[in-house]
Amino acid sequence: MGIIMATYYNENSILYLNGEFVKASEAKMDFYSQSLHYGYSVFEGIRSYKTSAGDTKIFKAEEHFVRLQNSAAALNMPYTWTTSELIEATYETLAKNNLQDAYIRPVVYAPANMSFAKNEQSFIVVQVWEMQPFLGNKLLRVMTSSFQRPNPKGFKIHAKAAGHYVNSILASQEAKSNGFDEALLLDMNDHVAEGPGANVFFEKNGKLFTPAPGNILPGITRATVIEICDELNIKVEEKFFTTAEMKAADAAFYCGTAAEIIGWESLDDVKFAKPWNETFSRQIQIAYSARVKENAFEIMEA
Ligand code: PMP
Repeated sequence: MGIIMATYYNENSILYLNGEFVKASEAKMDFYSQSLHYGYSVFEGIRSYKTSAGDTKIFKAEEHFVRLQNSAAALNMPYTWTTSELIEATYETLAKNNLQDAYIRPVVYAPANMSFAKNEQSFIVVQVWEMQPFLGNKLLRVMTSSFQRPNPKGFKIHAKAAGHYVNSILASQEAKSNGFDEALLLDMNDHVAEGPGANVFFEKNGKLFTPAPGNILPGITRATVIEICDELNIKVEEKFFTTAEMKAADAAFYCGTAAEIIGWESLDDVKFAKPWNETFSRQIQIAYSARVKENAFEIMEA
């Protein structure tokens, strides 16, 4: 999605592994883990930012670690950590790696188990790597995917489970091999669902629309966008809609922790009606980047 990431780790990188800080290059996990064989693990994608005051702040840390716990519960995985202990361990991991603008990836994974039976125990790792600050305004050319999102009758779709992401990888690779920047996936009723790793909004006549929950991962950024709309007095409606309705929109964007808010140029080569800089969506993008850096001045400018 146009996000540039640095190398994930080097000889000096430290990760948090089951209560200890260890060198990433020396950390071990069990190749017989049920997680590796069946995609049976849950994870989070979190970001920390250098605030305008110079501090390191994990954006919506509590919300992300609560979702991690809920994802583990949805998959019947034992979960023995508290949110506050994990937040503290994550800040310490960031400090040990000298990182402020970072991507944070906790993964809860299973022990050795080649059967489908429940486990008595889970493990946790928290990895961090450098993330470049937001790069601006290259708009995405998006393609409707031939892959649907997993049916919620087949998966706990609200859980952030590793196995679900095979679907995301297929869709994203298909879009890129067709010369697009990213895919848009529909649900089993052919309504718009979400991107491979982001939620979607469109704007029409000054109002925003986003798919209702049910067939999506209800993102923390999506909730933040709804909060921002509330503060900026922009109306938002959650409903089911088709790509035909989206193609008649003034603007559209993806939102997610990694992508932040990223505008679209077109869907299936149909361009959106308004110049991005003249949309409410752009105002929301400005307000979001101010919020993550706790920059009050930019919020006022928006
Ligand atoms: N949908 C999917 C499938 C995702 O992977 C993500 C990224 N976690 C999102 C939506 C956006 O969620 P969030 O805003 O919590 O990062």
